[in-house]
Amino acid sequence: ETLGQNLRRTVERHGDREALVVVSQGYRATYRELWETTTQVAKGLLAMGVEKGDRVGLWSPNRFEWVVTQYAAARIGAILVNLNPAYRTAELEYSLNQSGTSVLLLARGFRQTDYRAMLEEVRPRCPQLRVALVLDDDWQLLLSNAKHVSEHTLEDREASLQFDDPINIQYTSGTTGFPKGATLSHHNVLNNGYFIGEALRYGPEDRVCIPVPFYHCFGMVIGNLACTSHGSTMVIPGEAFDPLAVLQAVQLERCTSLYGVPTMFIAELDHPRFGEFDLTTLRTGVMAGSPCPVEVMKQVQSRMNMREVTICYGMTETSPVSTQSSLDDPFDKRVSTVGRVHPHLEVKVINAETGAVVPRGAAGELCTRGYSVMLGYWANEEATAKAVDAAGWMHTGDLATMDVDGYVRIVGRIKDLIIRGGENISPREVEEFLHTHPGVSEAQVIGVPSAKYGEEVMAWVKPKPGVTLTPEELRKHCTGRIATFKVPRFWKLVDAFPMTVTGKVQKFRMREVSVAELG
Ligand code: ATP
Ligand code: MG
Repeated sequence: ETLGQNLRRTVERHGDREALVVVSQGYRATYRELWETTTQVAKGLLAMGVEKGDRVGLWSPNRFEWVVTQYAAARIGAILVNLNPAYRTAELEYSLNQSGTSVLLLARGFRQTDYRAMLEEVRPRCPQLRVALVLDDDWQLLLSNAKHVSEHTLEDREASLQFDDPINIQYTSGTTGFPKGATLSHHNVLNNGYFIGEALRYGPEDRVCIPVPFYHCFGMVIGNLACTSHGSTMVIPGEAFDPLAVLQAVQLERCTSLYGVPTMFIAELDHPRFGEFDLTTLRTGVMAGSPCPVEVMKQVQSRMNMREVTICYGMTETSPVSTQSSLDDPFDKRVSTVGRVHPHLEVKVINAETGAVVPRGAAGELCTRGYSVMLGYWANEEATAKAVDAAGWMHTGDLATMDVDGYVRIVGRIKDLIIRGGENISPREVEEFLHTHPGVSEAQVIGVPSAKYGEEVMAWVKPKPGVTLTPEELRKHCTGRIATFKVPRFWKLVDAFPMTVTGKVQKFRMREVSVAELG
């Protein structure tokens, strides 16, 4: 099945149900209305001469046009290039050229930036870019161009598509360095979205609050495709993440499900006006994207009513989800593991040096195989060959353990592991412990170079609002409770962390700052 065929089936079954609500734009559409707008935009793109396989870039924060364009591009077999709303000129130029984007749809800007000015600057160096349309100004033009294209032309194009055609180049978050463009097919993303929705038991009554960006697979697949394949409603609070707007949207739109990376949930729970909102409609949700502290999961379950909250684990390269906790899992498994493997996928934990599967319970590199593995990195066979082996296993670069029942725990990224005087220290473990301090809102742990030990442990800690913390106090909290070699040697109290637009903490940036400061 293609994305278009799947949406059409949902329209047949749930046409009058609400598909999409964008609070910040005052936009509401039923599935039938979404389908009709999508048809027009698909024709508008055909009128501009977009061929099958052409790359159509989309540079925009969360707006209704994002979802419409995604389906419009998929229905004419174009490859949508998801551009990160936080990009600046260098990244824009790189992604446009690397993907060979010929048509670009862009918003006017995002968070005080002017996309049009940035585009003007790079455009002379992007010769293959034919057309750039500004959503706010040219949307009507796109819609009205539809009249030049017959129903037949669109139907013929749709009939020529294959389920395993590439439809998407998704750039990874850039948590560990420069983002890589993963090429994904209808088959990759649609199946993944469907099985995520199944795991959450979505139906047409569900209203899912999506504050995570659409440009990223969390918004596009776990959000959009899980909903549309189940006739559920997507509720978008706004363009940029704002904890207050999320709480308001959940109450106003009576959401049953809420998504976020851990830092988003923390910001909502810590918000001074948290107590004012009625969140009793919430039933479930997804936390994913980076290690989910058990304390935060517990609070989400008790204070936000998300009795059936689950954790997803995955990566852009695997469409994204490989493992997810199930609503039937005991609560402690649901908060402390990333669940078990998804249907029709395989996972294994190996010794990265020898490739041998490690015993249950031992840590090693997590590998995934099955329908969800990307077609490859776009125009980068060398990187693809490094990531996906000849037998089809995606080597994730994440350290994990699997227990005898198949529950997977993410220990952290292999790159982030701290080696202090020969001892392996998982930053995750120290972070989990620091979160048990009542004054800690968020803790992030890194390794910094040390002449004596190779690396030393450093913690960046963000206190809860109104709380004053000192390194002495934090050190005292650790003493006698975790092994001395794990107790952070260096502390930095902060009110923010360097972050990707997907809300992930960029530890390589933390290391850069810390190395410069420590000298
Ligand atoms: P880049 O590859 O550009 O450095 P990234 O790896 O963050 O960025 P994504 O594809 O968005 O890009 O994220 C996938 C990664 O996020 C995984 O490899 C894993 O490290 C982390 N991750 C995702 N879900 C979880 C989870 N539930 N628990 C722990 N880590 C997670
Ligand atoms: Mg990655």
